[in-house]
Amino acid sequence: MHQYTVPLSQKVPLRLAGELSKRVFFVSEDIESFELVEEKEGETAVVCAVRVTTRAPSDTVQMRSMLNQLVSDDILPQRSVMEHRIWQSSHPVTTHDDTFDRMLDQGIAIPSGEGQLGFGDPFTGLVAHLDEVFRAAAQRSFGALEHRYPSLIPTGVLARSGYLTSFPQFLMFAGRLHGELDSYKGFVKQVSDRDSAEDTDAAVSRALADHSTHSGYTLSPAVCYHVYEQHAGKSLDADLVSVTARGTCFRHESRYHRSLERLWEFTMREVVFIGSENRVAEARNSFMQDVFAIVEELGLAGHVETASDPFFCDAKTAEKIWTQRLMQLKYELLLPVPGGRSVAAVSFNTHGSSLGEAFSIRTPDREIAHTGCVAFGLERFAYAFVCQHGLDPAGWPDAVSRSVQSSGATEASR
Ligand code: AMP
Ligand code: ZN
Repeated sequence: MHQYTVPLSQKVPLRLAGELSKRVFFVSEDIESFELVEEKEGETAVVCAVRVTTRAPSDTVQMRSMLNQLVSDDILPQRSVMEHRIWQSSHPVTTHDDTFDRMLDQGIAIPSGEGQLGFGDPFTGLVAHLDEVFRAAAQRSFGALEHRYPSLIPTGVLARSGYLTSFPQFLMFAGRLHGELDSYKGFVKQVSDRDSAEDTDAAVSRALADHSTHSGYTLSPAVCYHVYEQHAGKSLDADLVSVTARGTCFRHESRYHRSLERLWEFTMREVVFIGSENRVAEARNSFMQDVFAIVEELGLAGHVETASDPFFCDAKTAEKIWTQRLMQLKYELLLPVPGGRSVAAVSFNTHGSSLGEAFSIRTPDREIAHTGCVAFGLERFAYAFVCQHGLDPAGWPDAVSRSVQSSGATEASR
């Protein structure tokens, strides 16, 4: 391991330390771990350097230049907007410290790749139960229709929505070999002739560089883009259209992956609203109330506050974050997990008319439609639930343990 302390040309105020931490791993794949170094500037502390650990020796001049670019382009221009807490559950915080380790020991969480986990019961039953609670609430309140979409999404749809240029760090493109006999043969030869000492991944990467192309599809980073595409170019026949769907989502979270909190592959239940400005705003607000009641009923500690997305490498990063926070376009439900931390388990978003415009969706009055979405991270939500209530269904609220046990019984009798 090699350690370098990279000084920052411009010091970062502590209020932006979290924004910096969220992006350091995306500066270079060489970084194995890092730590922010603070110093006192008068009475206040600032971040003055980043201590990075790399596996192989790395080019420190380049690392320094990239970290300083990150600071000047994406971090320092961010203006300060205080988080605004709008709701707090009535339940006190209690968490079981070793939940993730126990899930591993008991085979309830099965590591299956970087940022990827398989799951066993009772966790899978819990995820299914929570998903059904969220789906049923959306159906009850808005008549939301259940849909099912593919895991792949045309890359053009992500470009149209702005995702491609706002979150390049998360993209997981689907590649395929050139559809020509020579490419298949060349690929097979390179992979089978590889030097036995060579790492398979490295050999495959080399062969892919020579013989593959982008398929035109990307692994979906969220479910809602399918919904905007489905309505593209259309006029709605009601003031509010609501669709709900569960899907597997993919985000390359680099080395930020952590237990069940941050995965490269996870499951999202989304409830999407498209309609007039007022109806979409009302829908997001009233669905937030439904979710507050659900969180209370589940006996969970948590709170909701304003939030922003981790925009990256975009000339407008700071402006976008500022607008999101100032206009309260994004709220997140934060649920406590061990170590005095909380994780964002649900986001409640409005996008104004930007996606309606991008996808040419109109209201029955021929106005550009507004959109909003509420996104539940099912593994994250369920993980916070077991961190707070334990892994044994006997300790869960009655309605949950009854539902999980009866679905287990149904599975067993099949
Ligand atoms: P977002 O679209 O970023 O607001 O994400 C919606 C929800 O998906 C979040 O509130 C989380 O619960 C969940 N989520 C987002 N990213 C991840 C991830 N990398 N791993 C697990 N859950 C995630
Ligand atoms: Zn969404």
